[in-house]
Amino acid sequence: LQRLREGLARSSTQLTGSIGAIFTKRRLDEDTLQDFEDVLIQADLGVETALKITDRLSEGRFGREISGQDVRTILAEEIEKALDPVALPLELDLAKKPHVILVVGVNGTGKTTTIGKLAAKLTRGGLKVTLCAGDTFRAAAVEQLKIWGERTQSEVVAKAIGADAASLAYEGYDRAVENGSDVLIIDTAGRLQNKTELMAELEKIVRVLQKREPDAPHTVLLTLDATTGQNAMNQVEIFRNVAGVNGLVMTKLDGSARGGILVAIAAKFRLPVYFVGVGEGIDDLEPFKAKDFAAAIAG
Ligand code: GDP
Repeated sequence: LQRLREGLARSSTQLTGSIGAIFTKRRLDEDTLQDFEDVLIQADLGVETALKITDRLSEGRFGREISGQDVRTILAEEIEKALDPVALPLELDLAKKPHVILVVGVNGTGKTTTIGKLAAKLTRGGLKVTLCAGDTFRAAAVEQLKIWGERTQSEVVAKAIGADAASLAYEGYDRAVENGSDVLIIDTAGRLQNKTELMAELEKIVRVLQKREPDAPHTVLLTLDATTGQNAMNQVEIFRNVAGVNGLVMTKLDGSARGGILVAIAAKFRLPVYFVGVGEGIDDLEPFKAKDFAAAIAG
């Protein structure tokens, strides 16, 4: 919680500063509500949520004086309400052996790092994990994944740069079965510049995996970089259509002033948010908790 609070400090300071400025000894009138709504939209919370919050605020309080503290309490409650339905734990079907997690997302959003942190969590919990270096375009991504493999004592299945990602995923699956892994985590390339190619590649990975296991991939995790704000919204749209995303991880919440975007994403897409990234280290991946997040952002 402390890491999250520190991480969201920039998002929170902007928001609470503006709230303080709006609600100094002012009666709640149309202007105050409008100013408040603008602040919420600037904080990336999304129009839908901003309207919900201002509506809730005006209920029974219109024309009366209201303190910044009261506003923050209501704000925290409403944010928690919006996030609660998506704050779900990542559940693994361990009978699958391996449960397959496909990790997708734009390059630089934190796929490889999140895979490493997740592998650490799972192996510490006594599970055996295999990692598959499916971003076959970038040597650095493969090298990074190998380092995470060493750190977490997880086997890494990799091929030469330029190799076919789908056939690598296929081999990764077989290898995970052979070595008795509980979980197989597959990294992928995230080149949005060429959407058609990206789509074809992800579809092929899925198709090939399903030859081995009809329900695979059991989890399709999308990593979103909190610092990119509204772009993250577009990325959910694209990857949900291309890859059948069924869960989210928001990375780089440490130091981002744009953490509010998670609220807009939750309201629009209603996809589970399994984890948040709060740093580059192995322990900097936390299960997503609506109440903690809401408290951290509303100050
Ligand atoms: P990929 O290209 O999607 O695989 O992204 P990487 O995993 O290589 O991450 C890109 C950069 O973001 C690296 O420098 C990571 O250390 C950094 N990064 C990833 N997650 C976080 C996070 O939660 N917080 C911070 N501060 N940095 C992160």
